Amino acid sequence: MQRGASEADVRRVTAVIEEMGFQARPMVGADRTAIEVVGSDRPVEGARLAGLPGVDTIVRITKPYRQASREWQAEPTIVRLPGGISIGGSEIVVMAGPCAVENERQLLSAATAVREAGAAVLRGGSFKPRSSPYSFQGLGAAGLALLDRARAETGLLIVTEAIDPEGVELVAAVADIVQIGARNMQNYSLLKTAGRAGKPVLLKRSPGATIEELLLAAEYILAEGNPDVILCERGIRGFDSATRNLLDLNAVPVVHRLSHLPIVVDPSHGTGRRDMVPPMAMAAVAAGADGLLIEVHPSPEHALSDGAQSLDRPEFARLMRDVQALADAMGRPVASPAGVRA
Ligand code: PEP
Ligand code: MN
Repeated sequence: MQRGASEADVRRVTAVIEEMGFQARPMVGADRTAIEVVGSDRPVEGARLAGLPGVDTIVRITKPYRQASREWQAEPTIVRLPGGISIGGSEIVVMAGPCAVENERQLLSAATAVREAGAAVLRGGSFKPRSSPYSFQGLGAAGLALLDRARAETGLLIVTEAIDPEGVELVAAVADIVQIGARNMQNYSLLKTAGRAGKPVLLKRSPGATIEELLLAAEYILAEGNPDVILCERGIRGFDSATRNLLDLNAVPVVHRLSHLPIVVDPSHGTGRRDMVPPMAMAAVAAGADGLLIEVHPSPEHALSDGAQSLDRPEFARLMRDVQALADAMGRPVASPAGVRA
């Protein structure tokens, strides 16, 4: 309470807290009173109290998210994927492929390249959330069929994006992991639908979201009964135009401290520049990331989206050799493609 708040102010706040179903414990100090709110693990609507006369500040002691927190579950969540691959344990899982599925040749050539270099999961968007409505929007259902085919030919698992609740079922029928893009991180109806999709969800951090907001978005999926959420740091909006985004590698140890959920890093969108992808991918692994999401295109100069940040085949192969060496030094295995045991 503010200095000088009256006894009537304190009584009113106490009454509202009790009306909300909590216990109120006033602690009277020399020149001001604090009121502790206790008694339930439901979230407290702080906004209802903030406007009452005499109230100074609301200090949250407990986290606003519950199931995503370390208090809820101390051990790390291990998301188990087909083929014996898991994310969140000791394995480093590399997901790589084009930004967008463009055509059969492009996808199969990218898939072969990333598999040969040692990635375990093929990425590629069929439904593309583009900043401009005039940019390539993806192949839609036809692209999903190509991803299905690429999996059959290479044994790679598939991660691909759903951009609206209506599309989740279609995407989940093909994807091993359903991606929710940065622009959709707070699309709550999409999060809820993904929570019921029956497939693991890769949730990308919005460029404008705090880590707490990312964990609250994950909470929507968990609250629907889907425990398999993989978080993804892909860069936030900074003030420096030298790179596309500000890759917040702090998010890796912060998430590991606050949450049991795995977190992977996307240095492609995080930097926007091909030359910066390998060093930041290595930094992400060094920081303890559970995996990487990397854009690879058989011929980046012809890519319909994100060519400037896509690695070509030799660049990706070189990066995978470096990741393997770093993983060896850290005593962590790199997940092998399904059916291949290192
Ligand atoms: C992507 O992974 O292709 C993508 C669209 O990324 P983001 O949602 O992080 O912008
Ligand atoms: Mn992209």
